[in-house]
Amino acid sequence: MIQISAAAADAQAVSLHERLFTIDTHIDTPTASLMRAGWDLGGRHDYAADHSQCDLPRMREGGIDALVFAVYVGQLARTPEGLRLAHERALRCFERTHEVLQANAGACALALSAEDGLRLKAEGKRAIYLSIENAYSLGRDAGNVAKFCQLGVRMLGLTHMLNNDVADASTDPRGAEWGGLSPLGREIVAEANRCGVVLDASHASDDALRDLLECSRAPVVLSHSGPRAVADHPRNVGDELLRALAAKGGVLQINALPVSLVNAPGHGRTAGIAEVLLRFKDAVLSPETLAAEDVAYDVVCAAHPNPPVTFADFIRHIEQAVNVMGIDHVGIGCDFDGGGGAFEGLRDVTDYPNITRALLQRGWNEADLAKLWGGNTLRVMRATAKASDGSPPS
Ligand SMILES: [Zn+2]
Repeated sequence: MIQISAAAADAQAVSLHERLFTIDTHIDTPTASLMRAGWDLGGRHDYAADHSQCDLPRMREGGIDALVFAVYVGQLARTPEGLRLAHERALRCFERTHEVLQANAGACALALSAEDGLRLKAEGKRAIYLSIENAYSLGRDAGNVAKFCQLGVRMLGLTHMLNNDVADASTDPRGAEWGGLSPLGREIVAEANRCGVVLDASHASDDALRDLLECSRAPVVLSHSGPRAVADHPRNVGDELLRALAAKGGVLQINALPVSLVNAPGHGRTAGIAEVLLRFKDAVLSPETLAAEDVAYDVVCAAHPNPPVTFADFIRHIEQAVNVMGIDHVGIGCDFDGGGGAFEGLRDVTDYPNITRALLQRGWNEADLAKLWGGNTLRVMRATAKASDGSPPS
């Protein structure tokens, strides 16, 4: 009898999950997988075999309607040449991503607006939005926001782990450089507002987020972060700032990065990775630089393996964020293909239904799940488009 009702509850959870519009706002598939020669988004892959966590068959299996594909460019020299090479790498990554979407046009398409996402779901296709992670790849020209927007970008992450010319990062071992946003950062925020690009302060310092909340005309997001009250990690954000984010209409998208899910005092992984990035801060992009950086990164990760985390830790982040900010201001941003997940219950994109299942068991209703899974993010997209000058490039 118990087994039958458990099976019925499971079927109900799966059918609800399929019905809801579901979006994850941060996944590193373009850089992690699409730039690999011969890697096919349309084929089913396996994490155990190639460490990838996303492809179209697995998206279907995980009932995920939309993903924000981040074009991440690692930070190297902040010289004119360094910036030019980073910009060119971002352009190559956009080009490759567009090729891949075109080659899989029967199963997915680029989405530029909230309505595109809903329409594609109705057509049975996966919606792919584009973001950039690390405004380093914009160079020192705020005009490049419009250029990236024309290439389909609708979300812009200000920094990665080190300070850049736009803002301070939360994990730079050298501390603050600008005390928040730089003058160029403020120009870029104004330009993103004008173009209708959602601003993303994940990885940025608390002061940079504070500045952003003050000067952005549109709500902002943290595309893959968490509440610091659960895990005191610099990538997470304290209650006061989370309330300010909510007051502005924004959304905290809950990250599944193990090291930021639990309190692990003295855990050297984040500091070790930041030190590797610092070691390469004056290098320029080349295959040799990338290979050397990869080796150094692997050494640090082997020396500081992820702390043990559970699926329940991830759920705790969601519920704490809802307690602090309210149900209208929390979403999902697992950081798959970028270090997120890969633990029991959240191995890859096929595991999204586990989130719906767990929250239903904890008494969540359909209306709240609809907000968490997509409604809140769609609201920010619409508000951002509305606050723009009305003619976002397409
Ligand atoms: Zn990230």
